[in-house]
Amino acid sequence: MNNCIFCKIAAKEVPCHMIYEDEEVIAFLDINPVNFGHTLIIPKKHFANIFETPDDLVCKCFLKAKELAPKIIKAVRADYCHINVAGQDVAHFHVHIIPRHNNDGLSNWPTKKTNNKELNKIKEDILKEIN
Ligand SMILES: [Zn+2]
Repeated sequence: MNNCIFCKIAAKEVPCHMIYEDEEVIAFLDINPVNFGHTLIIPKKHFANIFETPDDLVCKCFLKAKELAPKIIKAVRADYCHINVAGQDVAHFHVHIIPRHNNDGLSNWPTKKTNNKELNKIKEDILKEIN
């Protein structure tokens, strides 16, 4: 955890472009933005991912994203935004707010061709894990 960049940001050991802070969470601009206004919301305490983060903190990060996103969209004159958890980069739970512009040249996720048989099989496989 000593090498966690987000812990260092939360502890003010590393500077960031902070847009919100309270006792439990902090929101700051991503230094490698997908689009301008790309913001990360993190709990100040270290949790490696969403699954290890206590429910109340997960809720707090998403509720803060819900509150901040419309203001960010307005500030950067975006058309809409993504609010998501990528789960593939820094191992300290964080929620992305990614402003999007119509025709910003970013592709949406590619989709696969499928059919009812495949969808039913996948549904059954997931239901086996849930039940
Ligand atoms: Zn951390």
